[in-house]
Amino acid sequence: MPRPVAVYPAFRRGLERLGPRARRVLDAATSPFGSILRAERAGRRIALTFDDGPDPDVTPRLLAGLADAGAQATFFLLLSRVRRFPRVAAAVADGGHEIALHGLDHRRLTTLPLAEARRSITFARAELSERLGTEVRWFRPPYGAQTVQVWQHVRREGMETVLWGPGLADTEQVAVAERRRRRRARPGDIVLGHDGVADRDDGVDDPPPPALDRVAWALDAVREYQDGGLTVGTVGALLDAGTAVKGARFTR
Ligand SMILES: [Zn+2]
Repeated sequence: MPRPVAVYPAFRRGLERLGPRARRVLDAATSPFGSILRAERAGRRIALTFDDGPDPDVTPRLLAGLADAGAQATFFLLLSRVRRFPRVAAAVADGGHEIALHGLDHRRLTTLPLAEARRSITFARAELSERLGTEVRWFRPPYGAQTVQVWQHVRREGMETVLWGPGLADTEQVAVAERRRRRRARPGDIVLGHDGVADRDDGVDDPPPPALDRVAWALDAVREYQDGGLTVGTVGALLDAGTAVKGARFTR
């Protein structure tokens, strides 16, 4: 079997060059190896997702705002932060939101030896599930970076990889108008937001996020979606209502 390493950049560049129609055809053809990208035939629903939490400042305020708005979300939690902020993590589950796994920590899985990457996923799913007393159906690799082997292991662990469509652009240094443009969502979309910021305690040293009130920005997006007639809910609710659209996405 050829080593997949060199294939990934070429694959990604190829995907980026395709038009939307060709990409849909390729996604359908590769769906047996696909990650969940969005849903179709799910009515006017979208899924709202938050990565990199829990965060002791942002998450509680976000939970209060979501409750006021009658919206639910899926939280892709880092086990490294669940251990540090167990009460905040419990509040996410108690709020009726969906618990999903982002990782044992935020290290890029494709930089770890495969055995370690696999162990980290198995271990983190089990501990997250036990700590919060809930099933964990969805996994989102840090940075969306996964190899075929990591993707297969996620399936063996009884989870599916969920990626995303539009994002709240709450980690990027962009102008407000651009941020507003990027967060536009259509029915079936899976929207990416962040309640936490992964740091050295999560195994990474990423640039700081923009100066942005992430709670106000996320709740403003929720209002915009709801005003546009969209129901804002969890990944589970979206996929229960509709059909998952998958495509192969392997990036290092
Ligand atoms: Zn992340």
